[in-house]
Amino acid sequence: MTDTSITDAHNEAADSIPADHDGNEAADSIPADHDGNEAEVILHDEHLMEAHTEAHTRAASPALIGEGYVAGIDLGGTKILAAIFAPDGTIVSRSKVLTGSVGGFDVIDRLAAAVREAAAVAGLSLSQITAVGTGVPGPVNPDTGVVHVTPNIPGWELMPLRDELSSRLGIPVAVDNDVRVAVTAEHGAGAGQGARNMVAIWPGTGVGGGIIINGQIYTGADSYAGEIGHITVKVGGAPCGCGGRGHLEAYCSRTAIVKRLHKLVRSGHRTRLTRIAGKNILKAKSSDIAEAASLGDPLVLAVLERTARYLAIGIASVANLLNPELIVLGGGVVEALGAPYIDRVTALVRAQPFAATTGPLRIVQSALGDDAGVTGAAIMARQIGTRHTGVTAA
Ligand SMILES: [Zn+2]
Repeated sequence: MTDTSITDAHNEAADSIPADHDGNEAADSIPADHDGNEAEVILHDEHLMEAHTEAHTRAASPALIGEGYVAGIDLGGTKILAAIFAPDGTIVSRSKVLTGSVGGFDVIDRLAAAVREAAAVAGLSLSQITAVGTGVPGPVNPDTGVVHVTPNIPGWELMPLRDELSSRLGIPVAVDNDVRVAVTAEHGAGAGQGARNMVAIWPGTGVGGGIIINGQIYTGADSYAGEIGHITVKVGGAPCGCGGRGHLEAYCSRTAIVKRLHKLVRSGHRTRLTRIAGKNILKAKSSDIAEAASLGDPLVLAVLERTARYLAIGIASVANLLNPELIVLGGGVVEALGAPYIDRVTALVRAQPFAATTGPLRIVQSALGDDAGVTGAAIMARQIGTRHTGVTAA
């Protein structure tokens, strides 16, 4: 009854006041936030790197389609990317803001600024954004929106990010770990569309991962499910960043690859990588490694072959445990190496003994690249936006 009368009140207002094209009059009945003047404030945001509108280039997946606009944020250690998604699921605008090194609540102010800026360049008011999603580089409880800790952002121990950001914007916010956000993106709008059971593996600085079971992201008892990087592939093997030994991450991350190459060069081996990336091989980027590989550098190819072998062992273990139909490989290393690496890993997985699970398994490269973060965050926003709209419109 109450909800109906609120809806009627809005309709009456719309009847007596000429509505503008986007139904903006509803904003008048919503209390303005602290400055009520977002667009002018953020257009002068000192940390803003860029903001622009975007022409529709491709059809959007159903997971991104919904009522109103939503914002997706990709929070990284150096920059914050935000994108506004239209009701038809396409991106209409983007912004990029420096994360900065100060940390703490300052970063939350910048997340809010990124959303305001992206909305402003698209000519949208915040009241037209129904929900915001954001990925965080560290462990998060998606149910409470509290960030446990982030190695790259100072002062974020037990940070109540969801509530802090929501109160700054006056919009419902969804928060999750960045790897799970990327997995959500690939499953909802990328290489994993339509998959019932899939596992994503992201070799980068570490090796992240995520699991989709029966079409839903699987989080586990304490929301740490998917830490594929720390499964053991060699007893007593190479030391892992977590303190363990022989973990997948200790062989397949970019960090592990450059460490191995560094060690081999110090023991007298030669590689073109020193010419491509400079004397300090430890600083080689994924693209440098890919360039050396494409030139047929024997040392780099040997290290990548070793990496592929351990990755195949890890994938086979995951396949035997969960029997997914699809493995999506993403992250900097895989994206740089591309199809030849995926094909080699696939061949090595096929050679694993228990063919019932590894035989039919499809292994594909991630499809969204740098857009995975904002896309997955927008899908999360759609999910809470639907719930939110459902409550107020019922
Ligand atoms: Zn580990």
